[in-house]
Amino acid sequence: MQTIAHWIDGKAFTGTGSATLPVTNPATGVVTGQVHLATAADVQAAIASAAAAFPEWRDTSLARRTQILFRFRELLNARKEELAALITAEHGKVASDALGEVTRGLEVVEFACGIPHLVKGSFTENASSKVDVFNIRQPLGPVAIISPFNFPAMVPMWFFPLAIAAGNTVVLKPSEKDPSSSLWMAELWHEAGLPAGVFNVVQGDKVAVDELLENPSIKAVSFVGSTPIARYVYERGTAAGKRVQALGGAKNHMVVLPDADLDLAADAAVNAGFGSAGERCMAISVVVAVGTVGDELVDKIKQRALTIKTGDGARGTDMGPLVTRAHRDKVAAYVAAGETEGAKLVLDGRGIEVDGAADGFWLGPTILDHVGTGMSVYTDEIFGPVLSVVRVDSYDDALAMINGNPYGNGTAIFTNDGGAARRFHNEVEVGMVGINVPIPVPMAYYSFGGWKNSLFGDSHAHGTEGVHFFTRAKAVTSRWLDPSHGGLELGFPQNK
Ligand code: NAD
Repeated sequence: MQTIAHWIDGKAFTGTGSATLPVTNPATGVVTGQVHLATAADVQAAIASAAAAFPEWRDTSLARRTQILFRFRELLNARKEELAALITAEHGKVASDALGEVTRGLEVVEFACGIPHLVKGSFTENASSKVDVFNIRQPLGPVAIISPFNFPAMVPMWFFPLAIAAGNTVVLKPSEKDPSSSLWMAELWHEAGLPAGVFNVVQGDKVAVDELLENPSIKAVSFVGSTPIARYVYERGTAAGKRVQALGGAKNHMVVLPDADLDLAADAAVNAGFGSAGERCMAISVVVAVGTVGDELVDKIKQRALTIKTGDGARGTDMGPLVTRAHRDKVAAYVAAGETEGAKLVLDGRGIEVDGAADGFWLGPTILDHVGTGMSVYTDEIFGPVLSVVRVDSYDDALAMINGNPYGNGTAIFTNDGGAARRFHNEVEVGMVGINVPIPVPMAYYSFGGWKNSLFGDSHAHGTEGVHFFTRAKAVTSRWLDPSHGGLELGFPQNK
Protein backbone atom coordinates (compact mmCIF):
# COMPACT_ATOMS: atom_id res chain seq x y z
CA MET A 1 0.00 0.00 0.00
CA GLN A 2 1.34 3.42 -0.93
CA THR A 3 1.89 6.21 1.55
CA ILE A 4 1.09 9.71 0.37
CA ALA A 5 2.93 12.56 2.02
CA HIS A 6 4.14 16.09 1.42
CA TRP A 7 6.25 18.00 -1.11
CA ILE A 8 8.47 20.59 0.47
CA ASP A 9 11.43 22.49 -0.95
CA GLY A 10 11.44 20.68 -4.28
CA LYS A 11 11.28 17.14 -2.91
CA ALA A 12 9.07 14.56 -1.23
CA PHE A 13 8.89 14.86 2.56
CA THR A 14 7.40 12.24 4.88
CA GLY A 15 6.70 14.55 7.77
CA THR A 16 7.31 14.37 11.48
CA GLY A 17 3.98 13.01 12.71
CA SER A 18 2.49 9.54 12.76
CA ALA A 19 -1.17 10.37 12.03
CA THR A 20 -2.54 8.99 8.76
CA LEU A 21 -5.92 8.52 7.11
CA PRO A 22 -6.93 5.87 4.59
CA VAL A 23 -7.40 6.83 0.93
CA THR A 24 -10.04 4.70 -0.77
CA ASN A 25 -11.01 3.91 -4.34
CA PRO A 26 -14.72 4.77 -4.13
CA ALA A 27 -15.62 2.41 -6.97
CA THR A 28 -14.24 -0.64 -5.18
CA GLY A 29 -14.28 0.37 -1.54
CA VAL A 30 -10.65 -0.79 -1.37
CA VAL A 31 -8.16 1.24 0.67
CA THR A 32 -5.35 2.09 -1.74
CA GLY A 33 -3.10 4.25 0.39
CA GLN A 34 -2.49 6.07 3.63
CA VAL A 35 -2.17 9.83 3.59
CA HIS A 36 0.10 11.43 6.19
CA LEU A 37 -1.43 14.31 8.11
CA ALA A 38 0.96 17.20 8.56
CA THR A 39 1.85 18.39 12.03
CA ALA A 40 2.10 22.12 12.68
CA ALA A 41 5.90 21.68 12.43
CA ASP A 42 5.55 20.11 8.96
CA VAL A 43 3.44 23.04 7.79
CA GLN A 44 5.96 25.46 9.28
CA ALA A 45 8.69 23.70 7.26
CA ALA A 46 6.65 24.18 4.06
CA ILE A 47 6.00 27.83 4.88
CA ALA A 48 9.70 28.37 5.67
CA SER A 49 10.61 26.89 2.29
CA ALA A 50 8.06 29.14 0.52
CA ALA A 51 9.33 32.18 2.43
CA ALA A 52 12.96 31.41 1.60
CA ALA A 53 12.15 30.96 -2.10
CA PHE A 54 10.13 34.18 -2.35
CA PRO A 55 12.82 36.89 -2.69
CA GLU A 56 14.52 35.20 -5.64
CA TRP A 57 11.27 34.15 -7.33
CA ARG A 58 9.82 37.63 -6.93
CA ASP A 59 12.86 39.03 -8.71
CA THR A 60 12.92 36.38 -11.44
CA SER A 61 12.12 38.10 -14.72
CA LEU A 62 8.67 37.78 -16.22
CA ALA A 63 10.31 36.26 -19.28
CA ARG A 64 11.86 33.45 -17.25
CA ARG A 65 8.71 32.87 -15.16
CA THR A 66 6.65 32.60 -18.32
CA GLN A 67 9.05 30.09 -19.86
CA ILE A 68 8.55 27.82 -16.85
CA LEU A 69 4.78 28.25 -17.05
CA PHE A 70 4.80 27.33 -20.72
CA ARG A 71 6.86 24.23 -19.92
CA PHE A 72 4.39 23.26 -17.17
CA ARG A 73 1.55 23.76 -19.66
CA GLU A 74 3.23 21.54 -22.27
CA LEU A 75 3.96 18.76 -19.77
CA LEU A 76 0.45 18.86 -18.35
CA ASN A 77 -1.13 18.79 -21.78
CA ALA A 78 1.01 15.85 -22.84
CA ARG A 79 0.30 13.84 -19.69
CA LYS A 80 -3.21 14.91 -18.74
CA GLU A 81 -4.64 11.37 -19.04
CA GLU A 82 -2.28 10.27 -16.25
CA LEU A 83 -3.61 12.94 -13.94
CA ALA A 84 -7.20 12.16 -14.94
CA ALA A 85 -6.67 8.48 -14.05
CA LEU A 86 -5.37 9.47 -10.61
CA ILE A 87 -8.47 11.59 -10.06
CA THR A 88 -10.80 8.75 -11.03
CA ALA A 89 -8.98 6.32 -8.72
CA GLU A 90 -9.35 8.51 -5.62
CA HIS A 91 -12.41 10.65 -6.34
CA GLY A 92 -14.48 8.22 -8.40
CA LYS A 93 -15.61 10.56 -11.19
CA VAL A 94 -15.68 8.96 -14.65
CA ALA A 95 -12.61 9.23 -16.89
CA SER A 96 -14.10 11.75 -19.36
CA ASP A 97 -15.20 13.99 -16.50
CA ALA A 98 -11.77 13.78 -14.85
CA LEU A 99 -10.17 14.77 -18.15
CA GLY A 100 -12.61 17.67 -18.41
CA GLU A 101 -11.53 18.85 -14.96
CA VAL A 102 -7.86 18.76 -15.95
CA THR A 103 -8.62 20.62 -19.18
CA ARG A 104 -10.41 23.44 -17.34
CA GLY A 105 -7.43 23.73 -14.99
CA LEU A 106 -5.10 23.79 -17.98
CA GLU A 107 -7.00 26.79 -19.31
CA VAL A 108 -6.02 28.77 -16.20
CA VAL A 109 -2.40 27.78 -16.74
CA GLU A 110 -2.70 29.09 -20.30
CA PHE A 111 -4.25 32.32 -19.04
CA ALA A 112 -1.41 32.70 -16.53
CA CYS A 113 1.13 32.38 -19.37
CA GLY A 114 -0.01 35.90 -20.31
CA ILE A 115 1.17 37.31 -16.97
CA PRO A 116 3.45 39.98 -18.50
CA HIS A 117 0.38 41.58 -20.00
CA LEU A 118 -1.79 41.00 -16.93
CA VAL A 119 0.50 42.83 -14.49
CA LYS A 120 1.30 45.73 -16.78
CA GLY A 121 0.94 48.99 -14.89
CA SER A 122 0.16 52.46 -16.16
CA PHE A 123 2.32 55.56 -16.53
CA THR A 124 1.33 59.22 -16.55
CA GLU A 125 3.95 61.65 -17.70
CA ASN A 126 3.93 65.19 -16.33
CA ALA A 127 1.00 64.67 -13.95
CA SER A 128 2.22 67.76 -12.18
CA SER A 129 5.04 69.91 -13.57
CA LYS A 130 7.86 67.45 -14.36
CA VAL A 131 6.27 64.91 -12.05
CA ASP A 132 5.47 61.44 -13.38
CA VAL A 133 3.13 58.91 -11.76
CA PHE A 134 3.06 55.20 -12.41
CA ASN A 135 1.58 52.18 -10.78
CA ILE A 136 2.84 48.64 -10.53
CA ARG A 137 1.48 45.39 -9.16
CA GLN A 138 3.73 43.32 -6.93
CA PRO A 139 3.42 39.81 -5.49
CA LEU A 140 2.35 39.31 -1.88
CA GLY A 141 4.76 36.62 -0.64
CA PRO A 142 3.98 33.04 0.40
CA VAL A 143 0.27 32.27 -0.14
CA ALA A 144 -1.86 29.27 0.91
CA ILE A 145 -4.39 27.32 -1.13
CA ILE A 146 -6.81 24.99 0.66
CA SER A 147 -8.89 22.85 -1.68
CA PRO A 148 -11.90 20.48 -1.53
CA PHE A 149 -12.19 16.84 -2.58
CA ASN A 150 -14.44 17.35 -5.57
CA PHE A 151 -11.90 18.92 -7.95
CA PRO A 152 -8.48 17.75 -6.74
CA ALA A 153 -6.71 19.17 -9.82
CA MET A 154 -8.88 21.97 -11.20
CA VAL A 155 -9.54 23.90 -8.00
CA PRO A 156 -5.84 24.16 -7.06
CA MET A 157 -5.27 25.25 -10.67
CA TRP A 158 -7.82 28.05 -10.28
CA PHE A 159 -5.20 29.65 -8.05
CA PHE A 160 -1.60 28.42 -8.25
CA PRO A 161 -0.85 29.26 -11.90
CA LEU A 162 -1.64 32.93 -11.32
CA ALA A 163 -0.12 33.03 -7.84
CA ILE A 164 3.16 31.62 -9.16
CA ALA A 165 3.12 33.62 -12.40
CA ALA A 166 2.67 36.82 -10.41
CA GLY A 167 5.78 36.04 -8.34
CA ASN A 168 4.30 34.53 -5.15
CA THR A 169 5.28 31.22 -3.60
CA VAL A 170 2.66 28.65 -2.66
CA VAL A 171 1.72 26.13 0.02
CA LEU A 172 -1.17 23.93 -1.17
CA LYS A 173 -3.23 21.89 1.31
CA PRO A 174 -5.44 19.55 -0.74
CA SER A 175 -8.32 17.45 0.53
CA GLU A 176 -7.23 14.43 2.52
CA LYS A 177 -9.78 12.33 0.57
CA ASP A 178 -7.92 12.53 -2.78
CA PRO A 179 -4.40 13.76 -2.06
CA SER A 180 -2.34 12.29 -4.92
CA SER A 181 -3.15 14.77 -7.72
CA SER A 182 -1.43 17.62 -5.90
CA LEU A 183 1.80 15.65 -5.50
CA TRP A 184 1.68 14.69 -9.16
CA MET A 185 1.38 18.38 -10.09
CA ALA A 186 4.25 19.26 -7.72
CA GLU A 187 6.50 16.80 -9.54
CA LEU A 188 5.43 18.29 -12.85
CA TRP A 189 6.42 21.78 -11.67
CA HIS A 190 9.77 20.35 -10.64
CA GLU A 191 10.20 18.85 -14.10
CA ALA A 192 9.20 22.18 -15.67
CA GLY A 193 12.10 23.83 -13.86
CA LEU A 194 10.29 25.69 -11.08
CA PRO A 195 12.83 26.49 -8.35
CA ALA A 196 12.55 24.53 -5.10
CA GLY A 197 10.23 26.11 -2.52
CA VAL A 198 8.02 28.00 -4.97
CA PHE A 199 5.34 25.27 -4.90
CA ASN A 200 4.87 23.13 -1.78
CA VAL A 201 2.19 20.63 -0.81
CA VAL A 202 1.19 19.65 2.71
CA GLN A 203 -1.36 16.92 3.27
CA GLY A 204 -3.52 17.29 6.31
CA ASP A 205 -6.62 18.33 8.15
CA LYS A 206 -7.64 21.14 10.50
CA VAL A 207 -4.19 21.16 12.16
CA ALA A 208 -2.56 22.08 8.84
CA VAL A 209 -5.29 24.58 7.93
CA ASP A 210 -5.05 26.36 11.27
CA GLU A 211 -1.27 26.75 10.94
CA LEU A 212 -1.73 28.25 7.46
CA LEU A 213 -4.35 30.66 8.83
CA GLU A 214 -2.25 31.79 11.78
CA ASN A 215 1.31 31.78 10.47
CA PRO A 216 2.39 35.39 9.87
CA SER A 217 4.52 34.45 6.82
CA ILE A 218 1.39 33.49 4.86
CA LYS A 219 0.04 36.65 3.23
CA ALA A 220 -3.11 35.37 1.50
CA VAL A 221 -5.40 32.36 1.60
CA SER A 222 -7.51 30.97 -1.24
CA PHE A 223 -10.01 28.45 0.12
CA VAL A 224 -12.68 26.36 -1.58
CA GLY A 225 -14.97 24.01 0.33
CA SER A 226 -18.20 23.87 2.29
CA THR A 227 -19.85 27.04 3.61
CA PRO A 228 -19.22 26.53 7.35
CA ILE A 229 -15.49 25.95 6.79
CA ALA A 230 -15.30 28.79 4.24
CA ARG A 231 -16.79 31.16 6.80
CA TYR A 232 -14.37 29.91 9.47
CA VAL A 233 -11.35 30.27 7.17
CA TYR A 234 -12.42 33.77 6.15
CA GLU A 235 -13.01 34.97 9.70
CA ARG A 236 -9.87 33.44 11.18
CA GLY A 237 -7.63 34.33 8.23
CA THR A 238 -8.73 37.96 8.05
CA ALA A 239 -8.49 38.29 11.84
CA ALA A 240 -4.85 37.26 11.42
CA GLY A 241 -4.42 40.11 8.92
CA LYS A 242 -4.45 38.07 5.73
CA ARG A 243 -6.15 38.63 2.41
CA VAL A 244 -8.73 35.81 2.10
CA GLN A 245 -11.04 34.57 -0.64
CA ALA A 246 -13.16 31.66 0.63
CA LEU A 247 -15.52 29.99 -1.82
CA GLY A 248 -18.28 27.98 -0.14
CA GLY A 249 -21.14 25.62 -0.86
CA ALA A 250 -24.06 25.94 -3.24
CA LYS A 251 -27.66 25.19 -4.05
CA ASN A 252 -28.06 25.84 -7.76
CA HIS A 253 -31.51 26.34 -9.27
CA MET A 254 -32.43 25.77 -12.90
CA VAL A 255 -35.57 27.63 -13.91
CA VAL A 256 -37.60 26.18 -16.77
CA LEU A 257 -40.11 28.63 -18.25
CA PRO A 258 -43.20 27.39 -20.09
CA ASP A 259 -41.80 28.39 -23.49
CA ALA A 260 -38.56 26.41 -23.07
CA ASP A 261 -37.61 23.49 -25.28
CA LEU A 262 -38.37 20.76 -22.72
CA ASP A 263 -36.16 18.16 -24.40
CA LEU A 264 -33.14 20.45 -24.19
CA ALA A 265 -34.06 21.42 -20.64
CA ALA A 266 -34.38 17.76 -19.60
CA ASP A 267 -31.00 16.91 -21.18
CA ALA A 268 -29.45 19.84 -19.32
CA ALA A 269 -31.04 18.94 -15.97
CA VAL A 270 -29.76 15.37 -16.21
CA ASN A 271 -26.25 16.38 -17.30
CA ALA A 272 -25.92 19.09 -14.66
CA GLY A 273 -27.70 17.17 -11.90
CA PHE A 274 -26.04 13.77 -12.23
CA GLY A 275 -22.66 14.59 -13.83
CA SER A 276 -19.88 13.76 -11.35
CA ALA A 277 -22.64 12.17 -9.23
CA GLY A 278 -23.83 15.64 -8.30
CA GLU A 279 -20.58 16.36 -6.44
CA ARG A 280 -19.95 19.67 -8.17
CA CYS A 281 -20.38 23.10 -6.65
CA MET A 282 -22.03 24.07 -9.95
CA ALA A 283 -24.32 20.99 -10.08
CA ILE A 284 -27.99 21.73 -10.59
CA SER A 285 -29.74 20.43 -7.50
CA VAL A 286 -33.11 22.20 -7.84
CA VAL A 287 -35.22 22.29 -11.00
CA VAL A 288 -37.84 25.03 -10.79
CA ALA A 289 -40.71 24.14 -13.09
CA VAL A 290 -42.75 27.26 -13.90
CA GLY A 291 -46.44 27.10 -14.82
CA THR A 292 -47.71 23.84 -16.24
CA VAL A 293 -44.46 22.27 -17.50
CA GLY A 294 -43.91 20.14 -14.37
CA ASP A 295 -45.43 16.77 -15.35
CA GLU A 296 -43.95 16.64 -18.83
CA LEU A 297 -40.55 17.91 -17.70
CA VAL A 298 -40.28 15.46 -14.80
CA ASP A 299 -41.20 12.59 -17.09
CA LYS A 300 -38.56 13.59 -19.65
CA ILE A 301 -35.91 13.90 -16.93
CA LYS A 302 -36.85 10.51 -15.54
CA GLN A 303 -36.70 8.77 -18.94
CA ARG A 304 -33.22 10.17 -19.51
CA ALA A 305 -32.01 9.39 -15.99
CA LEU A 306 -33.03 5.75 -16.47
CA THR A 307 -30.49 5.45 -19.31
CA ILE A 308 -27.53 6.52 -17.14
CA LYS A 309 -25.02 3.75 -16.60
CA THR A 310 -23.70 3.98 -13.05
CA GLY A 311 -20.43 2.22 -12.30
CA ASP A 312 -16.66 2.28 -12.07
CA GLY A 313 -15.52 5.50 -13.74
CA ALA A 314 -12.47 3.75 -15.17
CA ARG A 315 -14.72 1.39 -17.17
CA GLY A 316 -16.61 3.66 -19.55
CA THR A 317 -19.66 4.36 -17.40
CA ASP A 318 -21.66 7.63 -17.23
CA MET A 319 -21.73 8.22 -13.49
CA GLY A 320 -19.33 7.06 -10.80
CA PRO A 321 -19.72 6.44 -7.07
CA LEU A 322 -19.86 8.99 -4.27
CA VAL A 323 -16.57 9.86 -2.62
CA THR A 324 -16.90 7.94 0.66
CA ARG A 325 -19.27 5.45 2.24
CA ALA A 326 -20.21 8.01 4.92
CA HIS A 327 -21.08 10.59 2.27
CA ARG A 328 -23.14 8.07 0.28
CA ASP A 329 -25.07 7.16 3.44
CA LYS A 330 -25.66 10.84 4.22
CA VAL A 331 -27.05 11.50 0.74
CA ALA A 332 -29.26 8.39 0.97
CA ALA A 333 -30.57 9.67 4.32
CA TYR A 334 -31.61 12.92 2.62
CA VAL A 335 -33.61 10.92 0.08
CA ALA A 336 -35.44 9.15 2.91
CA ALA A 337 -36.04 12.47 4.68
CA GLY A 338 -37.42 14.01 1.49
CA GLU A 339 -39.95 11.22 1.18
CA THR A 340 -40.92 11.49 4.85
CA GLU A 341 -41.32 15.24 4.55
CA GLY A 342 -43.80 14.80 1.69
CA ALA A 343 -41.85 14.92 -1.58
CA LYS A 344 -42.77 12.42 -4.29
CA LEU A 345 -39.96 9.95 -5.04
CA VAL A 346 -40.00 9.65 -8.83
CA LEU A 347 -36.73 7.75 -9.17
CA ASP A 348 -34.89 6.05 -6.30
CA GLY A 349 -31.14 5.51 -6.70
CA ARG A 350 -30.74 3.60 -3.47
CA GLY A 351 -29.90 -0.07 -3.93
CA ILE A 352 -29.02 0.42 -7.61
CA GLU A 353 -27.39 -2.40 -9.60
CA VAL A 354 -24.00 -1.25 -10.83
CA ASP A 355 -21.28 -2.18 -13.21
CA GLY A 356 -18.57 -2.44 -10.58
CA ALA A 357 -17.65 -3.85 -7.21
CA ALA A 358 -20.37 -4.48 -4.67
CA ASP A 359 -18.43 -2.52 -2.06
CA GLY A 360 -18.32 0.73 -4.09
CA PHE A 361 -20.10 3.78 -2.69
CA TRP A 362 -23.02 3.73 -5.09
CA LEU A 363 -26.14 5.77 -5.34
CA GLY A 364 -28.00 5.98 -8.63
CA PRO A 365 -29.77 9.01 -10.09
CA THR A 366 -32.59 10.08 -7.80
CA ILE A 367 -35.48 12.46 -8.52
CA LEU A 368 -37.80 14.00 -5.93
CA ASP A 369 -40.82 15.92 -7.22
CA HIS A 370 -43.16 18.37 -5.44
CA VAL A 371 -40.34 19.42 -3.13
CA GLY A 372 -41.17 22.30 -0.77
CA THR A 373 -38.74 25.02 0.27
CA GLY A 374 -39.06 24.00 3.92
CA MET A 375 -37.85 20.43 3.31
CA SER A 376 -34.25 19.47 4.17
CA VAL A 377 -33.65 18.29 0.58
CA TYR A 378 -34.25 21.90 -0.43
CA THR A 379 -32.60 23.80 2.40
CA ASP A 380 -29.36 21.75 2.60
CA GLU A 381 -26.59 21.22 0.10
CA ILE A 382 -26.85 17.46 -0.49
CA PHE A 383 -23.87 17.09 -2.86
CA GLY A 384 -25.08 13.90 -4.52
CA PRO A 385 -27.08 12.67 -7.55
CA VAL A 386 -30.40 13.94 -6.22
CA LEU A 387 -32.53 16.32 -8.28
CA SER A 388 -35.31 18.11 -6.44
CA VAL A 389 -38.14 19.53 -8.52
CA VAL A 390 -40.02 22.51 -7.10
CA ARG A 391 -43.14 23.67 -8.91
CA VAL A 392 -44.09 27.36 -8.98
CA ASP A 393 -46.76 29.41 -10.74
CA SER A 394 -44.71 32.23 -12.22
CA TYR A 395 -41.32 33.66 -13.13
CA ASP A 396 -41.62 36.03 -10.16
CA ASP A 397 -42.12 33.10 -7.77
CA ALA A 398 -39.04 31.38 -9.21
CA LEU A 399 -36.94 34.55 -8.88
CA ALA A 400 -38.12 35.17 -5.31
CA MET A 401 -37.19 31.61 -4.35
CA ILE A 402 -33.67 31.90 -5.74
CA ASN A 403 -33.07 35.34 -4.28
CA GLY A 404 -34.36 34.13 -0.91
CA ASN A 405 -31.93 31.21 -0.86
CA PRO A 406 -28.83 31.81 1.27
CA TYR A 407 -26.51 30.40 -1.42
CA GLY A 408 -25.69 32.26 -4.64
CA ASN A 409 -23.14 30.25 -6.59
CA GLY A 410 -24.70 29.35 -9.95
CA THR A 411 -28.10 29.34 -11.59
CA ALA A 412 -29.61 28.84 -15.03
CA ILE A 413 -32.75 29.73 -16.92
CA PHE A 414 -34.18 27.77 -19.82
CA THR A 415 -36.39 29.80 -22.13
CA ASN A 416 -36.73 30.99 -25.71
CA ASP A 417 -37.80 34.45 -24.55
CA GLY A 418 -34.85 36.83 -24.76
CA GLY A 419 -36.63 39.45 -22.66
CA ALA A 420 -37.26 36.99 -19.83
CA ALA A 421 -33.66 35.79 -19.96
CA ARG A 422 -32.38 39.34 -19.84
CA ARG A 423 -34.63 40.16 -16.90
CA PHE A 424 -33.34 37.07 -15.11
CA HIS A 425 -29.65 37.84 -15.48
CA ASN A 426 -30.36 41.39 -14.37
CA GLU A 427 -32.47 40.50 -11.33
CA VAL A 428 -31.07 37.26 -9.96
CA GLU A 429 -28.77 37.47 -6.92
CA VAL A 430 -26.30 34.80 -7.95
CA GLY A 431 -22.67 35.09 -9.06
CA MET A 432 -22.72 32.90 -12.18
CA VAL A 433 -25.74 32.75 -14.48
CA GLY A 434 -26.47 30.45 -17.43
CA ILE A 435 -28.96 31.22 -20.17
CA ASN A 436 -29.85 27.86 -21.68
CA VAL A 437 -26.48 26.74 -20.24
CA PRO A 438 -26.87 24.60 -17.11
CA ILE A 439 -23.30 24.78 -15.75
CA PRO A 440 -22.10 28.33 -16.45
CA VAL A 441 -18.49 27.95 -15.33
CA PRO A 442 -16.72 31.09 -16.58
CA MET A 443 -13.69 30.88 -18.85
CA ALA A 444 -10.25 31.32 -17.27
CA TYR A 445 -10.11 34.94 -18.46
CA TYR A 446 -13.34 35.72 -16.57
CA SER A 447 -13.59 35.13 -12.84
CA PHE A 448 -15.27 32.27 -10.99
CA GLY A 449 -17.23 32.86 -7.81
CA GLY A 450 -20.60 33.08 -6.18
CA TRP A 451 -22.47 35.57 -4.03
CA LYS A 452 -23.95 35.40 -0.52
CA ASN A 453 -22.99 32.25 1.43
CA SER A 454 -21.15 30.86 -1.58
CA LEU A 455 -18.25 33.29 -1.22
CA PHE A 456 -16.65 35.08 1.69
CA GLY A 457 -14.36 37.90 0.64
CA ASP A 458 -14.64 40.07 -2.43
CA SER A 459 -12.33 38.43 -4.96
CA HIS A 460 -13.48 35.70 -7.29
CA ALA A 461 -11.03 33.12 -8.64
CA HIS A 462 -8.86 33.55 -11.78
CA GLY A 463 -9.42 36.15 -14.51
CA THR A 464 -8.42 39.69 -13.64
CA GLU A 465 -9.84 39.32 -10.11
CA GLY A 466 -7.40 36.46 -9.58
CA VAL A 467 -4.50 38.61 -10.76
CA HIS A 468 -5.56 41.36 -8.38
CA PHE A 469 -5.93 38.93 -5.50
CA PHE A 470 -2.35 37.70 -5.87
CA THR A 471 -0.80 41.13 -6.31
CA ARG A 472 -0.92 44.46 -4.54
CA ALA A 473 -0.81 47.80 -6.26
CA LYS A 474 1.76 50.46 -5.62
CA ALA A 475 1.51 54.00 -6.99
CA VAL A 476 4.80 55.84 -7.47
CA THR A 477 5.09 59.61 -7.84
CA SER A 478 8.49 60.59 -9.17
CA ARG A 479 10.37 63.81 -9.83
CA TRP A 480 13.97 63.93 -10.95
CA LEU A 481 16.10 66.61 -9.42
CA ASP A 482 15.69 70.06 -10.92
CA PRO A 483 16.68 73.36 -9.25
CA SER A 484 13.23 74.80 -9.92
CA HIS A 485 11.83 72.30 -7.37
CA GLY A 486 13.50 73.98 -4.39
CA GLY A 487 11.74 76.01 -1.70
CA LEU A 488 9.56 75.30 1.32
CA GLU A 489 5.91 74.39 0.82
CA LEU A 490 4.07 72.92 3.84
CA GLY A 491 0.63 72.63 2.21
CA PHE A 492 -0.77 69.32 0.98
CA PRO A 493 0.80 68.37 -2.39
CA GLN A 494 -1.24 69.79 -5.26
CA ASN A 495 -0.84 69.49 -8.97
CA LYS A 496 0.80 72.43 -10.60
P1 NAD B 1 -14.82 20.72 3.17
O1 NAD B 1 -15.26 22.06 3.60
O2 NAD B 1 -15.15 19.55 4.02
O3 NAD B 1 -13.22 20.69 2.99
C1 NAD B 1 -12.54 21.67 2.24
C2 NAD B 1 -11.12 21.81 2.79
O4 NAD B 1 -11.20 22.24 4.15
C3 NAD B 1 -10.35 20.50 2.80
O5 NAD B 1 -9.02 20.76 2.43
C4 NAD B 1 -10.45 20.04 4.24
O6 NAD B 1 -9.34 19.28 4.65
C5 NAD B 1 -10.52 21.35 5.00
N1 NAD B 1 -11.30 21.22 6.25
C6 NAD B 1 -12.33 20.39 6.49
N2 NAD B 1 -12.80 20.58 7.75
C7 NAD B 1 -12.05 21.55 8.30
C8 NAD B 1 -12.06 22.20 9.58
N3 NAD B 1 -12.94 21.86 10.52
N4 NAD B 1 -11.16 23.16 9.80
C9 NAD B 1 -10.27 23.51 8.86
N5 NAD B 1 -10.22 22.92 7.62
C10 NAD B 1 -11.10 21.97 7.35
O7 NAD B 1 -15.37 20.52 1.68
P2 NAD B 1 -15.33 19.20 0.80
O8 NAD B 1 -16.32 18.22 1.33
O9 NAD B 1 -13.94 18.75 0.58
O10 NAD B 1 -15.84 19.79 -0.60
C11 NAD B 1 -17.19 19.91 -0.94
C12 NAD B 1 -17.71 21.30 -0.66
O11 NAD B 1 -16.94 22.25 -1.38
C13 NAD B 1 -19.14 21.51 -1.11
O12 NAD B 1 -19.80 22.28 -0.15
C14 NAD B 1 -18.99 22.29 -2.41
O13 NAD B 1 -20.10 23.07 -2.77
C15 NAD B 1 -17.81 23.12 -2.09
N6 NAD B 1 -17.18 23.61 -3.32
C16 NAD B 1 -17.38 24.92 -3.65
C17 NAD B 1 -16.83 25.41 -4.80
C18 NAD B 1 -17.04 26.85 -5.18
O14 NAD B 1 -16.42 27.28 -6.13
N7 NAD B 1 -17.86 27.61 -4.49
C19 NAD B 1 -16.08 24.58 -5.62
C20 NAD B 1 -15.89 23.25 -5.26
C21 NAD B 1 -16.44 22.77 -4.08
